[in-house]
Amino acid sequence: MINVTKTFFPPIEEYTEQLKRIWENQWLTNRGQLVLELEDKLKTHLNISNIILMNNGTIPLQIALKLLGNGGEIITTPFSYVATTAAIVWENCTPVFVDIHPEYLTIDETKIEAAITSKTTAILATHVFGNPCHIEAIEAIAQKHHLKVIYDAAHSFGVTYKGKSIFDYGDVSTCSFHATKLFHTGEGGAAFCKDKSLEHQIFYSHTFGHLGPIDYYGVGINGKISELQAAMGLTVLPYVAAIVKARKEVVDFYNTHLDFSKLQPLKIRENTQWNYSYYPVIFETEEQLLAVQKALNDNDIYPRRYFYPSLNTIEYTQGNSMPISESVAERVLCLPLYKELSRTETERIVSLININL
Ligand SMILES: *Cc1c(COP(=O)(O)O)cnc(C)c1O
Repeated sequence: MINVTKTFFPPIEEYTEQLKRIWENQWLTNRGQLVLELEDKLKTHLNISNIILMNNGTIPLQIALKLLGNGGEIITTPFSYVATTAAIVWENCTPVFVDIHPEYLTIDETKIEAAITSKTTAILATHVFGNPCHIEAIEAIAQKHHLKVIYDAAHSFGVTYKGKSIFDYGDVSTCSFHATKLFHTGEGGAAFCKDKSLEHQIFYSHTFGHLGPIDYYGVGINGKISELQAAMGLTVLPYVAAIVKARKEVVDFYNTHLDFSKLQPLKIRENTQWNYSYYPVIFETEEQLLAVQKALNDNDIYPRRYFYPSLNTIEYTQGNSMPISESVAERVLCLPLYKELSRTETERIVSLININL
């Protein structure tokens, strides 16, 4: 069976070595030695100055929205994983959707200003498939209208834009280290924030609002990552370069062998060093997509309809119609992409797609 992705499992002996450190320390959570070490290693690996590791990629979104959303209207993309929208609703804010760019698939920055009202407090945009939003335009709009910018960078591990880590952009940026993501800790995630005072708020928010036994700063929740998760992160991190290299080879093969007279590829933003995190293709029609999906499924190959349906159509969001996002969501399929996918398997996938178009 070939799925859209396959979790990377490092050699078990190497994971066991990390676990032994936990037993030696007799320390399982509350920011132990392994969590602190993983934060340090990620700062070096990503060339960033700040990171707060958390227990998944959704909690940092909720904390950012709690601190910056103020129960207001949040301008957001309808083309993302459902966590982006659900976090807004969960934090008692209102999602206000803005349609996407038809080729980059990120929020269409030229349509943001028309959606701003006196209740708008923030913009929450996704660097979908690791492809950066139009960061300069979004920053200019946010400054002009005094809005905060949160980036859901769940897909963007290792991406750089204009030579800087993608996590350096926005008031707050978040990432997911879920098992299906490019770098993972089983479950896990992080918040990135350069403003020291806001970073402090995010930090205490993820530890029940306090630091140590007596310093209480405000209301908080449990967003802590455990030593067991950090052990997985420390074991996987040395393999990230090899993971990206192997993915690039699959992507290069898809790019050169798929029939792009009938398929639309993802357009990567200029000045981006991409991470090969997903391989979406957009069909001319949903019927074509369904025919190709069936042909692949019949051969035990399971691509995924990331992201379908368009989030403005989900019952609890009550969104306006978003013609581009709805149309793309009906026609987009993410092809299998992971380190262990062999050339033979990639060739089979490509030929099954091309003959069924
Ligand atoms: C995976 C994902 C999340 C959620 O991350 P978890 O670690 O699973 O909580 C949020 N946003 C996007 C776009 C994602 O793909």
